[in-house]
Amino acid sequence: MRIFDPHIHMTSRTTDDYEAMYAAGVRAVVEPSFWLGQPRTSPASFYDYFDSLLGWEPFRAAQHGIAHHCTLALNPKEANDPRCAPVLDELPRYLVKDGVVAVGEIGYDSMTPAEDTALAAQLQLAADHGLPALVHTPHRDKLAGLRRTLDVVKESALPMDRVLVDHLNETTVKEAEDSGCWLGFSVYPDTKMDEERMVAILREYGPERVLVNSAADWGRSDPLKTRKVGDLMRAEGFTEDDVDRVLWRNPVAFYGLSGRLDLDLDSAETEATATHEGNSILRGGGAPAAAPTER
Ligand SMILES: [Zn+2]
Repeated sequence: MRIFDPHIHMTSRTTDDYEAMYAAGVRAVVEPSFWLGQPRTSPASFYDYFDSLLGWEPFRAAQHGIAHHCTLALNPKEANDPRCAPVLDELPRYLVKDGVVAVGEIGYDSMTPAEDTALAAQLQLAADHGLPALVHTPHRDKLAGLRRTLDVVKESALPMDRVLVDHLNETTVKEAEDSGCWLGFSVYPDTKMDEERMVAILREYGPERVLVNSAADWGRSDPLKTRKVGDLMRAEGFTEDDVDRVLWRNPVAFYGLSGRLDLDLDSAETEATATHEGNSILRGGGAPAAAPTER
C-alpha cells in the first residue's frame, strides 16, 4: 500500500513516527503551516517556521524515505491577532518557492471579520500564484462554517476544483461534494472522524475527490491513521484500486495542480550522513550506524 498523507504536522512529530510511517507505506506528506498551540508574538516567528517547512523538515523526511512538501499561510486562528497580520504582506515571497504546493491552512476558526479578510486575501494569493488552496473548516458550528467558507470561495478568483476543503464529516460532506471542491477528512484517535465512519462515507459517496489525512500534530493524534483507513477499506471489500486512489492518486492529483509536486527523493538527501546547513539528524555528529533510518 502506498500512502500520501496530505495533511500532517511533522514538525511536531519524532523520528520514531517517520520510521513507523515509512514501514506502514507512507512515501509522501504535505505539511500545512498552522499555529504552534500558543500565540506567536511577531511575524518573524512565522518566517523562521516557513523556512523550516521548506528546509529542515523536508530534509528530515527525506532521510526516512518520505517526500515532504508544505502549504504556507497565515492560519485562521492567528488571523485574529494584529501582531500576526503583516504575514499576509510577506507571503508572496514564500509562495514562489518550489516546496510550496498550496496556500493553506486558511479558512475559519471563529468566523470573525478578521478571518473573512485573511481568507479572501489568501484565496486571491493562491489564484495569483497558480496554487490550489487547503481550506480548514471550523470544528464548532460545522455546517454554518462550511457554507460560509464555500460562499467566500465562490466569490474568489480561485475555481472550486482547486480547493481542498478539510475536516469534513457526515454533516458537511454532502454540501461540500455538491460544490465541486476536493473533500478532505481528518481521522483522529477519539474525536471527529474515525476509520469506521470514514469507510462508511467512502461507501456512500465513493472515492472520487476524497483525501484522507491524519492531521497529526502536537495534540493527541496518530500518524498511522491513513494506513488504518486503508486496512479497513480492504477488509470491507474496497478494491486495491480504490485504496490507491484515496491514499495516493487523489492527493497527487490535488497537489499536482501546483505543478511543483516532486516525489523523487534526491539520493544525496536520503544519506544518513547528509547535512542541512551543517546539521544532521545524528546526535553529536555520530557514526552513520547510529542513524535512526533504514532499520
Ligand atoms: Zn492541521
